[in-house]
Amino acid sequence: MKRKTIGIIGLGRFGGTLAKQVAALGHEVCGIDIDEKVVQKLTPFITHSIVADFSDEETIRSLHLQDFDVVVIAIGDDLKAKLLTAMVLKELQAPYVVAKASSDMESKLLERVGVDLVIFPEMNMADRLAQMLTREYIVDYFQLSQDIGLVEMNTPAFMVGHTLEELSLRSRYGINIVAIKRHKSVMVPPNPKEPLTEEDMLILIGRNEDITKLSQL
Ligand code: ADP
Repeated sequence: MKRKTIGIIGLGRFGGTLAKQVAALGHEVCGIDIDEKVVQKLTPFITHSIVADFSDEETIRSLHLQDFDVVVIAIGDDLKAKLLTAMVLKELQAPYVVAKASSDMESKLLERVGVDLVIFPEMNMADRLAQMLTREYIVDYFQLSQDIGLVEMNTPAFMVGHTLEELSLRSRYGINIVAIKRHKSVMVPPNPKEPLTEEDMLILIGRNEDITKLSQL
């Protein structure tokens, strides 16, 4: 595994946890925050730590974060600092900038200044939980795009004893089964001629509305 250099700006609950986990995976992490106490708490876990204010352009430029493989902007509410940081980093040709947003408007602004990946940790978790809690068979849900999800689900009763070939889920429901988990093994790709059992877990991709239909049959 190539050791990556990752800069994390804002070491709150999200940035701080991310910094520790990335460092624990063996990568070089530089954690930066405006609050000295926050920085001190994380110093034992990461490679470098810096106290700096990212609402100041000269400070942002002076840190040479464009030399890192990835920079994550995890500043909480200060949208001005987030946008300024993103803008300056992309102007300095930082190769990959990720920023945390808390609204669609923020996301659009961050994309406009060139952020490579905008993430919504709270909203994504809430979406995922909503899917998991409200659909009878769904065990886990991962949103691939606005309307497409990757889902792990128990085998609905109407599928038990039938093969994927017989069920024709792709043509009838627009659903693609990509794998079947049976006991401790994972069948990828699944055998279309193998009857499904009650204990099987299905991993599938489809439009949210089609997944909902399938889980309500
Ligand atoms: P979270 O939801 O991740 O806990 P917070 O808003 O609590 O979000 O944390 C964001 C972190 O970003 C805080 O530790 C805060 O000190 C830091 N931060 C806020 N503004 C700046 C700034 N201008 N420059 C650097 N760090 C900042």
